[in-house]
Amino acid sequence: MLVGTAGAAAPAYAGRAEATPGAPGVGDRLYPLLGNGGYDVQNYNLHVTYPEKDPKQTVTGDVTITAVATQNLSRFDLDFGGDSVGVVRVNGDRAAFVRDGDELVITPQHHLPKGRPFRVTVSGYTAKPIEANADSPAGFVTTADGTFMAGQPDQSHNYFPSNDHPSDMATYTIALTAPVGWLAVANGTHVSDKRDHGYVTSTYRESKPLAGELIQAAVGDFVLRKRPSVSGIPIRDVVPRRLADDLLPPLDAERSQLTWMIDKVGKYPFENYGSLVVDTDLGFALETQTISLYDTTLFARPKYIVDPVMTHELAHMWFGDSVAPSEWSSVWQSEGHATWYELEYAEETGIFQQYTGAPDRETYFKKVYARGDADRRRYGPVAHPLKADSIWDVFNPNVYDGGALVLYALHQKIGQRDFQRLEREWVKLNRGKSVDTQDFIALASAVSGKNLRPFLTDWFYGTKTPPMPGHPDWTVTAAPAAAPATRAGFR
Ligand SMILES: [Zn+2]
Repeated sequence: MLVGTAGAAAPAYAGRAEATPGAPGVGDRLYPLLGNGGYDVQNYNLHVTYPEKDPKQTVTGDVTITAVATQNLSRFDLDFGGDSVGVVRVNGDRAAFVRDGDELVITPQHHLPKGRPFRVTVSGYTAKPIEANADSPAGFVTTADGTFMAGQPDQSHNYFPSNDHPSDMATYTIALTAPVGWLAVANGTHVSDKRDHGYVTSTYRESKPLAGELIQAAVGDFVLRKRPSVSGIPIRDVVPRRLADDLLPPLDAERSQLTWMIDKVGKYPFENYGSLVVDTDLGFALETQTISLYDTTLFARPKYIVDPVMTHELAHMWFGDSVAPSEWSSVWQSEGHATWYELEYAEETGIFQQYTGAPDRETYFKKVYARGDADRRRYGPVAHPLKADSIWDVFNPNVYDGGALVLYALHQKIGQRDFQRLEREWVKLNRGKSVDTQDFIALASAVSGKNLRPFLTDWFYGTKTPPMPGHPDWTVTAAPAAAPATRAGFR
C-alpha cells in the first residue's frame, strides 16, 4: 500500500499497535544478549565460500533468513560476531544497520507487521576462524586440515548472522563452496555437488529443526566414509584424510550404539547420523546435529572411554538436539540425559568399572549423591546454574552427574516402567521443539499419574540434596573433595 501522508494511513491502521524495536536478547537468564526478540526464524539459507585451501583463511558468506514477526517491528537484531558485514536487505530492500558488540541492529525501510513473514538477507559478510583453546569456548575453529564448528552455547554467530538461541530452532540449507579436492560437509542430507571453475559447491539440507548452536560445517582436507545404514538411517563419517586409517575403524561402534539407543528411547529423530573427528585438543566432544564432533585426543584413549563418550553424543540427538532446551538454565535436560545413557551403556556393555572406577551405577550415584550439597553450593542447583562467566559455569558437573542423579532419583521414585515411558514420550511429544524443566516436571507427573512437582522441584531447584528414594542410608558429605574432572573432558 502506498499512501501520501501519515494522516491518510491512519484509518487503515486503526487499532494496530505501534511498531517498536525487537529486544536485543530473548531474555535468557544466563546469556541475556543471546537470541533476539520480535521474530521467529523459520529457515536459514546459508552459503559460505572458502576461497583457497588455507585452513586459516577468512571466509565470506551470505545468509537469507525467513522469519515471522511476533510483534510490529520497527527494527530488529541478529546476533553476529564475525568480521565485516556487506549489504543487508529486508524483503529485497536495502536496510540500514549498525553493529553494537555482537548485535547486528537492522532498521528496515518499512515496518514489519506482527504475524507476517519477512526475509532478511545479509550478503558479503566475512568471518575468520580461531585456534582451538581448551580454556575458552570454541566457535569457528581452524586445524591443520581445515575448519569446523563447535558453536555451543554462544559461538555460532561468529560464523554467520543468526538468532543464536536454542529457543528459536529452524530448518537449514547450507551450501559450502571450496576448491576442488577439499571436502565440505554440513548437518543433514547431502543434496548436490556443483562444480564450477575449480570450485565445488556442496549443498546440505537439514529439514528437521536445528538450534543454531549445533550447526556443523567441516571444510578441508577431509574424507567421507559411508557405512551400512542402521534401521534405514544412512551413516557417514568425516575425518582428516591423513588420519583416516587410524580414525575410521573405531567410529564403526556408532552403528551398534545407534541400535542400542533406538531400543532405549524409540525412533531416531533425524535423517542421517555419523561422526566428525578433527585433529586438535578441544577438551570436549559436541553433539552437532546429525554428525557428532570429536577431537583426536579422545581417540588416543582406550575404547572403554571412547565408546561411552560416543554414546553420550549420540544420546544428545534425542536429548538436546531434537528436543532442545528453551533456556540455558535447563541445560541439564541435555547433559543429564546424555550422561544417563552414557552410564547405562557402559554398565550394559561391561566396561563400567574401567570407565568410572565404580562397580555399578548404584555405587557411582551414591558417590555423586555424597557431593550433592557441595555441588549445589559451588555450581548452583541442577536447573539453576549460578552464573555464566565461563562456559564451565554453565556446563558444570552438577548438570552432568547432578542431572543424571535427578533422573536416578526419579527412576527410584516411579520405577523402570514409567521411567522408560516418560523418556520415550518426552522425545516423541517434543520432537523438533524447545522445552524446559517445567515441561519435564509436567510430563513426568502426567506419565506416572503422580504429582511429582514438589519432589522434582526440590531436586531441580533446591540448595540441599533431597533424600534419595529407596536409599535412606545415603548421606551427603559436608566437605567432599571437589568433583573429579569428568571422565573424558566435557561432552
Ligand atoms: Zn553432552
